[in-house]
Parts: sequence; C-alpha cells; structure tokens
Amino acid sequence: MSTCAGTNQDGSPCHNTPMSGSAYCHVHQDQANGAAGTDASGVARRFARGLALVVSVLFLMAVAVRCEMDHWILGL
Ligand SMILES: [Zn+2]
Repeated sequence: MSTCAGTNQDGSPCHNTPMSGSAYCHVHQDQANGAAGTDASGVARRFARGLALVVSVLFLMAVAVRCEMDHWILGL
C-alpha cells in the first residue's frame, strides 16, 4: 500500500492514503500542482517589487543629481 507523496507542514512525510489516480492525498493535492513553484514565484514577485522600488529610487536620485549638476554648471 503506497502512501501520499506530500509532506506535512513540519516537513515529515505524509502517511495518508493517496487519492485514486494521484500520488497525493486530499490534503496534499495542491502539492501535486507544484506548491514549491508557487512559493518560488512568490519570492520572485517580492524580489521584483523590491527591485522596482530600488530602481525608482535610483531614478529619482539620478534626476535630482542631474538637476543639481545643471544648476551648478549654469551657476558658474
Ligand atoms: Zn498527504
């Protein structure tokens, strides 16, 4: 008798009986669809959001420095 291929939240292997036609029990059906991939894309989304924030801050700083330099050059 095979057991579920999923893992519990504490990382221990699941011992439930898999659903017919699946390697996972009803609790771990979402792991069959690649829950790890979902986690990775969540991290990627957070990373992209952080990157967008950094890029926008750098852009604003670049614009500010550019204005400062223009004032400095014209001021001379
Ligand atoms: Zn399971």
